[in-house]
Amino acid sequence: MNLLSRGLLASANLASLAWPIAGRIFTEKLEIDENRSVWAASTPNYQPGPPLAGDTTADLAIIGGGFTGTSTAYHFSRRYPEKRVVLLEAASLANGASGRNGGMLLNWLPYDLPPNPERDALIYATTNAGIDTIEAIIRRHNLPVSYRRDGTLSVFTSARRAEQAHAKAEYRRGIGLPTQFIDRAALSAAFQLEGAYGAILDPNSGQLNGAQYVRCQRPVLVEQGVEIYEGTPVLKVEEGETILLTTPSGTVRAKAIVLATNGYTSKLGYFRDAVFPLISHVFATAPLDPAQQLGWRQWAGFYDDMDRISYSSVTREGQVIFGGGSLTGSTYYFNNGTRFRGDEAQAARISASMAQRFQRYAPGGRGVPVAQRWSGTLGLTLRRNILMGVRGEARNIFYAVGYNGHGVTLANVAGQVLTDMYSGDDEKWRGLPFYQADYTPVPPEPFRWIGYEMFTKMAGHLPRY
Ligand SMILES: Cc1cc2nc3c(=O)[nH]c(=O)nc-3n(C[C@H](O)[C@H](O)[C@H](O)COP(=O)(O)OP(=O)(O)OC[C@H]3O[C@@H](n4cnc5c(N)ncnc54)[C@H](O)[C@@H]3O)c2cc1C
Repeated sequence: MNLLSRGLLASANLASLAWPIAGRIFTEKLEIDENRSVWAASTPNYQPGPPLAGDTTADLAIIGGGFTGTSTAYHFSRRYPEKRVVLLEAASLANGASGRNGGMLLNWLPYDLPPNPERDALIYATTNAGIDTIEAIIRRHNLPVSYRRDGTLSVFTSARRAEQAHAKAEYRRGIGLPTQFIDRAALSAAFQLEGAYGAILDPNSGQLNGAQYVRCQRPVLVEQGVEIYEGTPVLKVEEGETILLTTPSGTVRAKAIVLATNGYTSKLGYFRDAVFPLISHVFATAPLDPAQQLGWRQWAGFYDDMDRISYSSVTREGQVIFGGGSLTGSTYYFNNGTRFRGDEAQAARISASMAQRFQRYAPGGRGVPVAQRWSGTLGLTLRRNILMGVRGEARNIFYAVGYNGHGVTLANVAGQVLTDMYSGDDEKWRGLPFYQADYTPVPPEPFRWIGYEMFTKMAGHLPRY
């Protein structure tokens, strides 16, 4: 971390003292835009269910219909078939990040923590079991979901970083993880990337079509007794032993709720000083032959070690998905904007600058047209700490938010964590860094926006998610 970044972090801490006043001045409004992703396009027959009309009650009301919301609905309704579960989604299932991401189905090891063999092995085992569960759900219910689990690469772009990565890979092998260092020559033969000096392969990771995964679960959830209302934004949460949720044409009185709203959570008044939305861009190429055209003969995809992180994977249908790689690839909008505010021309310029990065890695990609481009809302925390827990005086507000770039797996794990927390049977999650975790506060506006602009425009960084 350079001097400017350190200075900005210190100022952020100081500026956070202004929350009590600034939080009242800068009120927020929910903004949701249309999901134009390649994943959403692969669910053309999806028909969102009706909105809530009238007043109802629930044992558990889940706010948000992405991975967090649906995984909680899935696991909770199987554990408690007799309880009434209501899921309220502002737009349609998978309209948020879950249906718009880069598709990378990753295991997780937090970047910032010093090595700790026991904890690191536990984290990997947890996320790997999470990926197993996703596969098990697809198989159990015979869901038509496109996914692959043939490994992804964490790529290093300097000789020094590759050498350090080699040592890291040895450490991971030593604690029993199946990850493996791939040297420059082996990498070039199997997955050609200009400027790559080596990579760590995680053979248990892959790619998931999130829109298909979430939307195909709808009938399963309904069968399990979950009431799903789409087009139903929650406008107000009134806490108590019984929580009152207000929506445009109805209310829910619930004994417990789940905040499954990740990057949108501040709009409900929660975690305003913890999670902030970043609008991030992705594109998909027209279908190609990755082995022939790019020299990508094995594995689902990669992400790199650069500040402006690039990540990419290939669908079963042969489309390359690419995200990041450019300073314009992500934007923070003043006061937690949750939708892309640019026009078509700006979106085209952004994807063109990202495509340049893709083509530098894979020169064979030059001339391959961009078939789709889209943006989505990430939930970021200042130190990439994911937060899962329960809050409120009556201890009945469950939450799982702030996944940064690792929600495809972890937001699906969240449903198990929250169900176990509700049951009081959550021993196995307690050693994990997200369990009832603390966070470094992000400053309120206008300091937040100014800090972000300085971090990106002056220091030339992007938050690595
Ligand atoms: C561009 C992009 C690329 C990414 N790439 C990857 C990747 O490759 N790998 C990875 O692991 N992670 C990636 N992520 C992160 C990952 O997609 C998310 O962490 C994950 O999908 C979060 O799931 P969620 O269910 O918590 O939130 P979301 O999927 O965002 O769902 C929240 C839902 O809540 C609804 N909602 C919000 N407010 C309200 C309200 N008031 N009332 C009712 N409903 C409401 C929204 O409409 C939305 O559907 C990426 C994210 C983005 C945006």
